[in-house]
Amino acid sequence: MTFTIERTANPTDAATLARILENPGFGKVFTDHMVTIRWTEGQGWHDAKVTARVPFALDPAAAVLHYAQEIFEGMKAYRAADGGVTLFRPDANAKRFRDSGSRMAMPLIPEELFLEAVEQLVRIDQAWIPGGEGGSLYIRPFMFANEAFLGVRPASEYVFCVIACPVGAYFKGGAKAITIWAPENYTRAAPGGTGAAKCGGNYAASLIAQLEASKHGCDQVVFLDAAEHRWIEELGGMNVFFVRDDGSLLTPPLSGTILPGITRDSIIQLARSLGHTVVEQPYSLAQWKEDAATGRVREAFACGTAAVLAPIGTVRTAEGDFVIGNGEGGSTTASLRERLVGMQRGTQAPLVDGWIRRVI
Ligand SMILES: *Cc1c(COP(=O)(O)O)cnc(C)c1O
Repeated sequence: MTFTIERTANPTDAATLARILENPGFGKVFTDHMVTIRWTEGQGWHDAKVTARVPFALDPAAAVLHYAQEIFEGMKAYRAADGGVTLFRPDANAKRFRDSGSRMAMPLIPEELFLEAVEQLVRIDQAWIPGGEGGSLYIRPFMFANEAFLGVRPASEYVFCVIACPVGAYFKGGAKAITIWAPENYTRAAPGGTGAAKCGGNYAASLIAQLEASKHGCDQVVFLDAAEHRWIEELGGMNVFFVRDDGSLLTPPLSGTILPGITRDSIIQLARSLGHTVVEQPYSLAQWKEDAATGRVREAFACGTAAVLAPIGTVRTAEGDFVIGNGEGGSTTASLRERLVGMQRGTQAPLVDGWIRRVI
């Protein structure tokens, strides 16, 4: 498919851009352009465009506004040491986007078209990629039902879009340990539901728990399973790992109710290559509390594209707090983080050659 390219008539001037890149924050400022591709029943994918980033004109009856038929991805472009630009495992994002689309009864975008759309945006807005340590261009591909129809069925029209924003560290404290809240009354996903799909609806459902977490002075929520309310699943937007005193790592299995994180998969492979045993098995909150007290679990961390690896220092429940290790993270978390970031930024060789995709 050929993309029509219409550069913005009002590009951000160099001085403003330099100021933005000094301290971009997370998800607040966006690049000048966007990519859109449309899908219509009978016609398939068409009208691929790179244009100025402008608001959508949506019919008030657009299906996404009523029934939330929407999926998204999150990935990053990095400035390489030689000035080039790379993506980390973007094919895994393209594949997961299709898996999410299947679950939400949406059309599946070919992986090559997804990747081309991402690369088009990275190329046209390459000046927006921060060069400094910790900076990157966060890329947000997404798709939504655009048919004006209030009947309940999969829509016959969709818009696929890619936007991007320069970002610094996800958590304000940088790599400092986070405090997480284990809610008593909320769950994120149930068996047979949409927990394994990257859809906006999962996030909408998690916000009230996040609000409760903030009220208790916590950074994030750790969700337990819906059936027994006992087993640890993941955070609102990050997977979770536990490091035990014998150096082994444990992470909850991909049971269908948690999101199959690409960071999660990369860490499993990386840790194994470094000689750690990694097990994917159910782990209860009660066991975690006990293991934290006995020292069997010395570290825990959350992981995802946005935050990379964030050590978990304290777990807060209605019954009280418990602390992991010294409450400040530990050496295994730090070294896995350093290795992963090194691969992503090209200062260390990738574990698998195909993990790094050069865009520029
Ligand atoms: C995106 C996401 C993750 C992390 O996935 P990565 O591919 O590692 O970025 C974890 N959990 C949820 C709920 C997510 O939406």
